[in-house]
Amino acid sequence: MPHLMNTYGRLPVAFTHGQGCRLFDEQGKSYLDGMAGVAVNTLGHNHPRLVQALGEQLGRLIHTSNLYRIREAEEASDRLAGIARMEEVFFCNSGCEANEAAIKLARLYGHQQGVEQPMIIVMEHAFHGRTLATLSATGNRKVQAGFEPLVSGFARVPFDNLAAIEHLVQHNPNVVAVLFEPIQGEGGINIVHHEFMRALRRVCDQKNWLLMVDEVQCGLGRTGAWFAHQHAGIVPDVMTLAKGLGSGVPIGACLAAGRATGVFKPGTHGSTFGGNPLACVAALTTLNVIEADQLMTRAMQLGEAIREGLRSGLADIEGVIEVRGEGLMIGVELDRPCGVLVSRALGAGLLINVTVEKVIRLLPPLVMSDAEGAELVAGLIPLIRDFLKE
Ligand SMILES: *Cc1c(COP(=O)(O)O)cnc(C)c1O
Repeated sequence: MPHLMNTYGRLPVAFTHGQGCRLFDEQGKSYLDGMAGVAVNTLGHNHPRLVQALGEQLGRLIHTSNLYRIREAEEASDRLAGIARMEEVFFCNSGCEANEAAIKLARLYGHQQGVEQPMIIVMEHAFHGRTLATLSATGNRKVQAGFEPLVSGFARVPFDNLAAIEHLVQHNPNVVAVLFEPIQGEGGINIVHHEFMRALRRVCDQKNWLLMVDEVQCGLGRTGAWFAHQHAGIVPDVMTLAKGLGSGVPIGACLAAGRATGVFKPGTHGSTFGGNPLACVAALTTLNVIEADQLMTRAMQLGEAIREGLRSGLADIEGVIEVRGEGLMIGVELDRPCGVLVSRALGAGLLINVTVEKVIRLLPPLVMSDAEGAELVAGLIPLIRDFLKE
């Protein structure tokens, strides 16, 4: 037995290498990657431009620390601020850390406004990470159970429900920010209405609250725009990123704009690894390839084709509640728990996931070809049909 802590229920497969959207296991069997390491491998596996850029950087400099200027981080921050139309970037190493930064920023902002017990509004079914503050912000009891006492200072409202927010406007003078995912990932591919995001933007402007979007899963081109909130035509005050940002090299980011800028000062927040040259080169290369190869258009078109394919292939069978998503963030909700499909798909050479027990989730690399997308659909349909007939 390996000496790993027992924190994951792992599938009985280990991969030795990958190429594009394929992974190969120890027996040499090939798998089509419909998960991209949970929305991480934006550029698939062994992407030549990423391998080259990282190889060059490895030979030059991996880490120096934030005691010094880091040109790669400065460049990556300029690039991110440009595409997000935001102003400041704090680099860290993961999604929960990006959200920790956002939560700390909101609290500090609140105190600077004279609010002594600042509250952050969060949504039902949200997922923000597994550190104590982010699991407290998460709207899933399974993530929290056993870790009480939870971090206080969060007020939970139903997802996509403006009336609940307006109630808090009237009744909770301590609110300083709203944190939500424009598309909930772990929560089952739940899409916020664009009108809800615009209304939230107005409420936050009226109340001086920070509008904070967690784009750790839905950001970085996956939904057909750089960031999912951009579909609603808004700019948030705070945005968090991680997963797809480094195409597999760990990096997270917390961005700020407008009244959220200038809140942190030297000594108020930090990260030893955050923004190191290697991780920032991974992020810069990922952003450059997304743009140069028009991967956002690819994500939008291929996502639509996959959803259409799934809808038509499953149209005449009972048990499919909905096929939904935006770009290459796709959910197929069934009327019953379907976790068993993950191992059946693995047997068929397809990597997929099931979340909230009933939603089949697909998060392929943005470099997936039309033929591979069709192969994913063609492989999945008989698995789902057979399962629903049992
Ligand atoms: C995965 C995820 C996180 C947590 O990211 P980690 O890198 O695992 O800490 C936070 N928010 C969202 C929306 C996520 O999907």
